Amino acid sequence: MDAALMARVLALRFLWRARDRWSAERIAAHRERAVAAARRHAVERSPFYRRLHAGLEDAPLTALPPVTKAQLMEHWDDAVTRPGLRLADVEAHLADLVEHDGDPGRPWRGRWWAAATAGTTGRRGVFIWDRREWATALASYSRPNDWAGIKAGPLHPPRIAFVSSARPTHASALLGATLGAVTPTLRLDAGAPLAETVAALNGFAPDIVVAYASALRPLAAEQAAGKLRISPSQITSSSEVLSAQTARDVERAWGIRPLDSYAATETAAIASVCTAGRRHLYEDLVIAESVDARNRPVPPGTPGEKLLVTVPFARTLPLIRYEMSDRLVIDRPGCPCGRAFAIVTRVDGRAEDVLEVPRVHGAVSVHPIVFEDALEDLPTTGWQVVQRRDGIDVLLVGLPPGTETDAVRARVEAALAAAGAAGVQVRVVPVAALERTALGKVPLVRGLPRA
Ligand SMILES: [Zn+2]
Repeated sequence: MDAALMARVLALRFLWRARDRWSAERIAAHRERAVAAARRHAVERSPFYRRLHAGLEDAPLTALPPVTKAQLMEHWDDAVTRPGLRLADVEAHLADLVEHDGDPGRPWRGRWWAAATAGTTGRRGVFIWDRREWATALASYSRPNDWAGIKAGPLHPPRIAFVSSARPTHASALLGATLGAVTPTLRLDAGAPLAETVAALNGFAPDIVVAYASALRPLAAEQAAGKLRISPSQITSSSEVLSAQTARDVERAWGIRPLDSYAATETAAIASVCTAGRRHLYEDLVIAESVDARNRPVPPGTPGEKLLVTVPFARTLPLIRYEMSDRLVIDRPGCPCGRAFAIVTRVDGRAEDVLEVPRVHGAVSVHPIVFEDALEDLPTTGWQVVQRRDGIDVLLVGLPPGTETDAVRARVEAALAAAGAAGVQVRVVPVAALERTALGKVPLVRGLPRA
């Protein structure tokens, strides 16, 4: 990691510590200033936002039109505030990283860090940060430790194992690769066969495990069975919703409560639990509006239909009322820890199923990342994997006419074989719309109902 980046991350973490004692009024005043500065910057330098916010420059934030990922991707070259920065070039850089298994921690052109996200709609998003922005994102990812009272810094370099995506275009790989320069890290792919992951973790003996929530359950079972033998002092679940069942499994296996952090590629870390066990929103870093289907704010304590985020530190690609599909309940502050940051009582967002694929001897767990990696580059507007009794259906929406579905099937079969589930029947089915759950959600990967 470059020294300037590291120094900035440490300075921010130090600076932010004082915010733990800020009053709600002080937090609100800080947000107002930060949002105003971000809006001015966007209108001055981003043709997309200048058009979008025309005539609304003095309107309150809540009066501005929301921005969807599809919109942002369509107008990417116009939305960025650096003339000459082109989506096609960033895409080429990301493709190059994948092709050559490059080091995502090394800045592109010496100054940019970029990541792609598959997202719940299946539409790929591409995000980019300069050194200053990436330092802020890194500092935000350290906050879950700081707020949970865990000592992890340059004086206490912990051994960190990531069980998420090893694909170099994913934000988790980018984070792991950047941290790898200052602390011993092991980056494992959640889609790898479980036995390989268990062996690697046993060999590495991590102090901290950071994993997709969906990857934690099979690992807890392996620990309980005596095959996995690690004794981390902290387990952090990231990216996905941590179910109560998974939290219990982790506690039973390791005797510690998993640290439930909430982060997204676009926003970096948004919320995490304090020592009193409540999850606080990082209101100083991200403005999160929980809204109904028509973008009207919902009252505190009630679930919204989606989330509109404004990220003041995102200056290269501004995010102002950017729409995310997560459903949050945001409550008024009030916590024994003394922080005046709002409390998020439920995060009902991305929840993917780990498929249990039956084999002759037992079953093989296939993590959703296996399908994400195989399908994310397809020229579709959406995809979904649905497990049936007799195999796996890959549903594709918006597939350009003439696309060879055989090639897609071969790709998925190869990915399944690499994950230890060769020989599964795969069908590729072009559809008009994806299947929704009873809650109206469209998970990327749906398993069979559990017995
Ligand atoms: Zn608290």
